Amino acid sequence: TDACLAAAAGSEKLNAFSAHTPDRAVEMADAADARLKAGDAPDMCGIPLGIKDLFSTEGVQTQAASRILDGFRPPYESTVTSQLWRDGAVMLGKLNMDEFAMGSSNETSTYGPAVNPWKRKGDDAALTPGGSSGGSAAAVAGDLCLAATGTDTGGSIRQPAAFTGIVGVKPTYGRCSRWGIVAFASSLDQAGPMTKTVRDSAIMLKSMVGHDAKDSTSANLPVPDFEAALTGDIRGKTIGIPKEYRMDGMPQEIEDLWSRGAEMLKDAGAKLVDVSLPHTKYALPAYYVIAPAEASSNLARYDGVKYGHRAKLAPGDGITEMYEKTRAEGFGDEVKRRVMIGAYVLSSGFYDAYYLRAQKVRTLIRQDFEKVFADGVDSILTPATPSAAFGIGEMADADPIKMYLNDVFTVTVNLAGLPGVSVPAGLDADGLPLGLQLIGRPWEEGDMLNTAYALE
Ligand code: GLN
Repeated sequence: TDACLAAAAGSEKLNAFSAHTPDRAVEMADAADARLKAGDAPDMCGIPLGIKDLFSTEGVQTQAASRILDGFRPPYESTVTSQLWRDGAVMLGKLNMDEFAMGSSNETSTYGPAVNPWKRKGDDAALTPGGSSGGSAAAVAGDLCLAATGTDTGGSIRQPAAFTGIVGVKPTYGRCSRWGIVAFASSLDQAGPMTKTVRDSAIMLKSMVGHDAKDSTSANLPVPDFEAALTGDIRGKTIGIPKEYRMDGMPQEIEDLWSRGAEMLKDAGAKLVDVSLPHTKYALPAYYVIAPAEASSNLARYDGVKYGHRAKLAPGDGITEMYEKTRAEGFGDEVKRRVMIGAYVLSSGFYDAYYLRAQKVRTLIRQDFEKVFADGVDSILTPATPSAAFGIGEMADADPIKMYLNDVFTVTVNLAGLPGVSVPAGLDADGLPLGLQLIGRPWEEGDMLNTAYALE
């Protein structure tokens, strides 16, 4: 904890933290010490963590990187973080992210972009750590914490993990309680660990998961020992290679990375099979209907009454003006875009054409995976992202669709509710990290992580 606190002091340029809690960290570390001495020490005891700003932390600034939650200090703690504290983990502070977790580059944050600790060879340009859990990725890769929490609605754990050379796990939907996590798209959101190694992820995931009566979508299943699953033995496992992920115009180095990963798994004794997920090409459009629809509903609560920011009102302004002015000032452009798209696709004239159709596509995508798993496939191997980290500002000014294309390999997993992990898998020609993704069967995070372990 001392080392992390010292590191944080020298690394403001990464802009990874949105709030530091050094006093609390020292207090928690002392308590962990006492537990360790008393011989009552769960695996997470004394491990210094950064917490994405999307998790409610009692008495500590929680803003989802939005101006509309200015100064919000929740009177409660999220289930996931309370479980980490139960197991003795130490909170160093809160981590930067895209506003309300909407983005792939951490550039929609009210705190300004987080910065990737990696740079292209011979080039000093600042790169994005990815998003939305960009602060989490930058903090772990930059050695400002041992591990961090992230959340993943369409790729926000896996893509930043790939951009910064770390491991990021999105568990099966329902594995982690969503209680106390600021909602983006409730049917897609899942919390997960972001760590330096697969083993660290397995250990941290165990502490984060479990049934919670306060989240009706949290699964009432026993908590597996994910670490015990890491035998490194994947002989006889069947790994699917989905042909639809071989996109037109995919850079050669991503192709090569994918083939190398497949070779490694084969050398370790796994059987490779070509599989088909025919509805893959509809995943991105379906996601960008469903996620904004749910967001527009979830974000309706930010009205200037209950939380955070309220606009200054003019004499004669009524409640409508208060809502309008507060939301106009409080939300950034990307959030407004999502709320408008969401309200549009849910409106009575367009519901059937967009929202209902997207839900049907979602079912087809889930069934694609069900068929592949029913045919005996244990995990599916794909690239994690279509490219390595890009420069800050490089994409943000372009057409938003270009930014959305970053999620092309990750959103299917959220739509189908499956577990996914991004594992570092080498460097590109510029010396930047690239990641491979493994997609597991529902509730088989242990098996998926063991395959990731063989790739590591
Ligand atoms: N980049 C995606 C989006 O902007 C995913 C975000 C996420 O997973 N939170 O919606």
